[in-house]
This record gives sequence, C-alpha cells and structure tokens, in this order.
Amino acid sequence: MVYRPMLVSEAAQHFWEACQNRRLEMPQCANCGRLCWYPQPVCPNCWHDRFGWVELSGRARLYSYTVVHRAFDSNFTDAVPYLSAIVEPVEDDRARLVSRLVDCSPDSLVIGADLALTFTEEDGIVYPFFSPAR
Ligand SMILES: [Zn+2]
Repeated sequence: MVYRPMLVSEAAQHFWEACQNRRLEMPQCANCGRLCWYPQPVCPNCWHDRFGWVELSGRARLYSYTVVHRAFDSNFTDAVPYLSAIVEPVEDDRARLVSRLVDCSPDSLVIGADLALTFTEEDGIVYPFFSPAR
C-alpha cells in the first residue's frame, strides 16, 4: 500500500508523529478526562477546550468491520481485499478509531472481540493497525 497520511492539521501531525515512534496517542480532555477522537476544538462531553495527548495501552475492542474488496483510490489497488474496522480503545469506548485489522480472517471475527495494537510499517510510514488479542 502506498498511502501517505495527510498532515492537514497540528492534531493530525501529532498523531502521525507519535505513530512513527510506535506510540498510539489521542487527545484527552483536561477537564473531564474523555478521550476525543477525532481531534475536535471542544470536548463533546463537557465543551472544555483544552486537551493533552495521552498514550494508549493498545488494547481495544472490535466495534465493527468490513471487508474492502474494491479500492476506492488507486493507491489501495494492491491492498484489496483488506479489513477496515472501527475499534474502541479500552481506556474510553467513546473514542472510536478507524483502522485496519491484520493477521486474521473475517470468518474468525466477532464484534466485541479483544484486539491488540500492532504497528505496521509500509513504505516508510508506521500505521496503527490491530489484530485479535492472543
Ligand atoms: Zn471534557
């Protein structure tokens, strides 16, 4: 896969820089502690506007997934089929992250299953993917 993350905001840049150092980080509300993903100007829980970045454990649960058979972008042509998923970090299941599932087949997946973060480097970029927890 040759896909370059778009660093269109300071928040996206922080997220991807953390991934390159093999850390999964999310913004956390300085007032109520809620993880806020995607990055937003105010907390959706308490409307506070100050955040700090926190490193997550990498443990998550499978909220939903789909098998992508047709590339929506020519950069993904070599990657199909692949598993696209929405995962919930165990630290806060309201902060759902879109990622990919690796090292598994769709037949073995169960909604709510425990997942583990696995960093995958492709073309010099480290991506935060997930696989079933062992
Ligand atoms: Zn808050």
